[in-house]
Amino acid sequence: MSSHISDASTDYWGTALRIHELAEVGSRELESSSLLKGILKDHGFEVEDHFMNIPTAFKAEKVLGNGAPSIAFLAEYDALPGIGHACGHNLIASSAVYSAIRSTEKIKNGTITVFGTPDEEGSGEWAGSKIIMAEKGAFIGIDLVLGSHPGDRWSVGEQSLADLDYEITFMGKAAHEAANPDNGRSALDAAILTYTAVNMMRQHVRRDVNFVMHGIIKEGGTASNVTPEKAVLTYGIRTSDINYHKIVVDRFMKIVEGCASATETTYKVKEIGLMYSTTKINQTLSNNIRERLLAKGIDCPTLDETLSRIPDGSTDFANVSQVVPALEVQFKIAKEGTPWHSRESLEAAKSNEAKEALKTMIEVLSDTAEEFSINPEFRNGVKKDFLKGK
Ligand SMILES: [Zn+2]
Repeated sequence: MSSHISDASTDYWGTALRIHELAEVGSRELESSSLLKGILKDHGFEVEDHFMNIPTAFKAEKVLGNGAPSIAFLAEYDALPGIGHACGHNLIASSAVYSAIRSTEKIKNGTITVFGTPDEEGSGEWAGSKIIMAEKGAFIGIDLVLGSHPGDRWSVGEQSLADLDYEITFMGKAAHEAANPDNGRSALDAAILTYTAVNMMRQHVRRDVNFVMHGIIKEGGTASNVTPEKAVLTYGIRTSDINYHKIVVDRFMKIVEGCASATETTYKVKEIGLMYSTTKINQTLSNNIRERLLAKGIDCPTLDETLSRIPDGSTDFANVSQVVPALEVQFKIAKEGTPWHSRESLEAAKSNEAKEALKTMIEVLSDTAEEFSINPEFRNGVKKDFLKGK
């Protein structure tokens, strides 16, 4: 069931390079999404534009035989502001589109879908579009979702951190800081107290949930002789345990309330963006894909080895894994330890190593889809793991 793609039959590499060159930032990936939709249309996919009213999202579908099972690939194509494709999403786009095309060439019965999912990096209006799609039911009726992401190592099932960002605005009372400071109530004091109290809280949180809380004081006054009337803090709160996330947020809100009370200021809390979930791990799917990588001579760690690493980020793919069996394979395009979102990863995303790894991904993902379409035992295993997972 394993086979190789011929470079002549697909232009997976040209597509990856073109998107790298376009380097369109999140929610504005107009040309990149058009390019991918065009390729899919040329290969007989029905394409729905503006999927879920998101301008650069799309859904492309091709039904084969009796149409079951339904397998989807997720494409990302957003670049990072200022630097370009330093996260390698140009490779994700090509991987999804050409894995889908290759699947339609191999599978007799099934529905193959590509979802174009904008703005994974969260720089624009449609930040974390997969969360919107997962919440609005885009994946109802799909049996399996496959994705990929380039990195500095191979892995088949990484954990990610639940994440939600907050903006806290304190409002005080302006006064002349020399003439009548007794009339002033400083919003900056409230912000600094909050910042300090959060740092004290860090000592008293669970150590096993990868708690991370990163914050800045975004606004803290306008002139040193005017009591700061307004101060704004933003914080990201992340943990690998979604229930503990709620507990920490509660404690954070008590800090904010206490600091406002102590400084006689008022405050408003706003959630920024959407809640990123943790990833639901699927052992059967991981094992299956790892075997394929090993057969190609790739030294991919076991799922347990991968899960013993500290999760290093959050992704909207995690929210998809909570509603449908899903796995995002990480494929290696640069030497281990290469910093990401950097000049080095920008170069890696168009390197020969990336070309080879992308080809492997397309073969592996479409071979997995093929087996899923013909092997009921594999399908049931994946489904069972999904139902018992968390
Ligand atoms: Zn990324």
